[in-house]
Amino acid sequence: MSIIKEKDLTLLEKTYIPQIIKGLALTWKQMFRPKFTRQYPEEKWAPPASFRGRPVLVQEDNGQERCVACSLCSRVCPALAIEVQAGETERDKERYPVKFEINMVRCIFCGFCEEVCPEEAIVMSDEYELVFSSQEEAIFGKDKLLVPKEKLQKRIEYLEEYR
Ligand code: SF4
Ligand code: SF4
Repeated sequence: MSIIKEKDLTLLEKTYIPQIIKGLALTWKQMFRPKFTRQYPEEKWAPPASFRGRPVLVQEDNGQERCVACSLCSRVCPALAIEVQAGETERDKERYPVKFEINMVRCIFCGFCEEVCPEEAIVMSDEYELVFSSQEEAIFGKDKLLVPKEKLQKRIEYLEEYR
């Protein structure tokens, strides 16, 4: 783009009136185009199944977690955000997580935990609204991590199709 020097401008151009009119015309035109903005938080965004929101644990219909406490997710997590403590159980599996915590301040939503889990017990949900007022509040235990399977169906089906 060539540089226009002030001395080369016409008298009208020196008043900047044509440029102001041009700018106003552009604004006026944009006012009648479809809007891309959203009135958040009143108007929520529903993410697609491919979206990686906060990681959650899948809760089976019997109320138990699907997780078998193998700790693979914890090992692969690049942010060292997951802590799993295994315990033995008499149920249909040998081990279950006595303690399962994710530090949501550390989590970078990479989805590695979901990718590596052999049981599809941890999945990335569609939740993106996370607010904490302290470091302690950001540590999510099983009470906050367990989500009923039917609420995660969209993501589970997506994983079955594309994984
Ligand atoms: S999404 Fe990534 S950073 Fe977050 S807990 Fe899973 S592996 Fe760790
Ligand atoms: S969530 Fe999956 S990878 Fe992590 S401990 Fe449980 S079964 Fe293993």
